[in-house]
Amino acid sequence: VTDTAPQSRLDSGRAPAWIALSAIALGLALVLGAGAAGFRMHGAMVRLRGAGAWWVTLGRSTALMAAMLLMVQFALSARLRILDRAFGLDRLLRLHAATGALAGVLACAHPFLTYAGGYSVGPLRVAIWPQLLGAGVLLILGLIVCTSVWRGFLLLPYEAWKWIHYLAFVGAVAGTIHGVKLGADFRGGWLKVPWMIVFALYVALFAWAKVLRPMALRKRRYTISSVERLNRNVCRLTLTPGSGAPAPHRPGQFVFLRLAGGPVGSQEHPFTLSSAPRSDGRLTLTIKASGDYTSAIMSAKVGQRATIDGPYGRFSYLDRAEKGGTLVFIAGGVGVTPMLSMLRFLSETEPERDVTFLWANRTREDVFAADELDQLTAQMPNLRVHHVLSREPDYDGEVGRLDVEKLRRLAGDRTGADVFLCGPTGMMDSVAAALRKVGFARGRIHAERFAL
Ligand SMILES: Cc1cc2nc3c(=O)[nH]c(=O)nc-3n(C[C@H](O)[C@H](O)[C@H](O)COP(=O)(O)OP(=O)(O)OC[C@H]3O[C@@H](n4cnc5c(N)ncnc54)[C@H](O)[C@@H]3O)c2cc1C
Repeated sequence: VTDTAPQSRLDSGRAPAWIALSAIALGLALVLGAGAAGFRMHGAMVRLRGAGAWWVTLGRSTALMAAMLLMVQFALSARLRILDRAFGLDRLLRLHAATGALAGVLACAHPFLTYAGGYSVGPLRVAIWPQLLGAGVLLILGLIVCTSVWRGFLLLPYEAWKWIHYLAFVGAVAGTIHGVKLGADFRGGWLKVPWMIVFALYVALFAWAKVLRPMALRKRRYTISSVERLNRNVCRLTLTPGSGAPAPHRPGQFVFLRLAGGPVGSQEHPFTLSSAPRSDGRLTLTIKASGDYTSAIMSAKVGQRATIDGPYGRFSYLDRAEKGGTLVFIAGGVGVTPMLSMLRFLSETEPERDVTFLWANRTREDVFAADELDQLTAQMPNLRVHHVLSREPDYDGEVGRLDVEKLRRLAGDRTGADVFLCGPTGMMDSVAAALRKVGFARGRIHAERFAL
C-alpha cells in the first residue's frame, strides 16, 4: 500500500504554449500601446509649440510606459497560477525585477524630457501639487530600485525590503492621479476610459492577491504533525491538512509557509516540498537553519498551525524533462530537497528510470537522509548515488568540489540527460559551467535557486 498520489491525479505542469504567447503579446501590447498613446496628440502639439513638443511627447510616452510597466509588473509577481504554469514563478520574479528597473529609468526620463521641451512649473506652491505628486512617485521608484539592486550591500533584511516594495502600490495610485490631473489625453480625453479600465483591473488584482487570497489561505489550515531533527541544523516538518487542502503538488515544487504564532509568525517563506505528492495531502518540508526564521522553525511545535500558499514552480522532471529519459540530479547541501521529492516519487511511479544523483556537502555530518537514499537505491535498480564531500580529506568516496573532472567521471556517460541542479549560488554557477564543458546541452540544464 502506498500513499503516493498517482501521476494521473497531478495536474499537468505545462501550460499550453498559447497561454505563454498570449501573455507575452498582451504585456507587450499594453506597454507599447501606452507608449504609442503618448504620441497621439503630437501633431497638434507640434503646430502649437514647435520642435520642443517632440521632447514633451517623448516624455509623456516614457511616463505612460513606466506606469503601464508598473501595473504589468504586479501581475508578474502576484503568484497567478496560470502564469506560474506557463513560465515558473522564479522566472516571473526575475522578469519582474528587470521590468521594475526599466520602469524606474523610463519614469525618471519623463521630467527631464518634459522640461527639455520647454515645460516649466514656476516656483514651489500648493497649486503645483500634481507635479509634486509626480516627484513623490519618482522618489518611491528610486527607493525601490536602489534597495532592490543594493539589498545585499545595504544589509537590508528581506522583510524591510519587502515593506519598501509595497510602496509601489502607493506609487501606482499617486502616478495615476498625477497623470489624470496633468495629462492632456486624460482630462476628459480618449485615454481616460482605457486607462481607468486597466487601473480598475490593477485594483481588482490587488484586492485578490493581497486580501481575498490570504483570507482563503487562512481557511486552508495545516497542522504540524511532526518535527524531526535530521542533523545539527536541518529539520523535517510534516504538515497534515485540515479542511480545504489544495491539489497535490508535482515533485520538485515549492510552497510559501506561514506559521501561526511565534516570534516570526506573520512572515511567509518559500520552501520546497521534500515529500512526494501524497494522496492524503500530507506535506514534508526539510529546512536548514540559515537565518532568524529558519532557526525559529527548528523549535516549531507539534500541533502548531500553518498556512501554505502553493504549490509553485516548474523545477520538476514531470514539467521539464524528456518523458522516460535519463536524469542527472545535482544538489548542494539543502538544495537536495527537490531531488528527494522527485526520487521518492520516481521510486513509486517509475522505479526503473535511469537516474544519477550527485550530492555535494561539506562534511559527513551535513549528509542527512542517508538511510532513505540507501532504501531508494535498493528500490531503483538504475539509481546511482554519489556523495561528494569538500571538507573530509579522509573520506573514502569523492572528496573536493564538483568540478569538470568529477562530473566527467561520474556523469560523463549521461550527456544526453536532463540535468536538475539546485544548491548555493556559487556552486550552481560553477557546476553549470563545468556541465557545459563536459558536453551537457545548455537547454537541458534546469536550475532552481533558493532565492526569489
Ligand atoms: C524556491 C525556493 C525553495 C526553497 N526551498 C528551501 C528548502 O527546501 N529548504 C530550505 O532550508 N530552504 C529553502 N529555501 C530557502 C529559504 O526560503 C530561505 O533560507 C529562508 O527564507 C531564509 O529565511 P531566514 O529568515 O531564516 O534567513 P535570512 O538570513 O533572513 O534570509 C536569507 C535569504 O533568504 C531569502 N529570504 C528571506 N526571507 C524570505 C522570504 N520571506 N521570501 C523569500 N525569500 C526570503 C533572502 O534572499 C534572504 O537574503 C528555498 C528558497 C526558494 C526561493
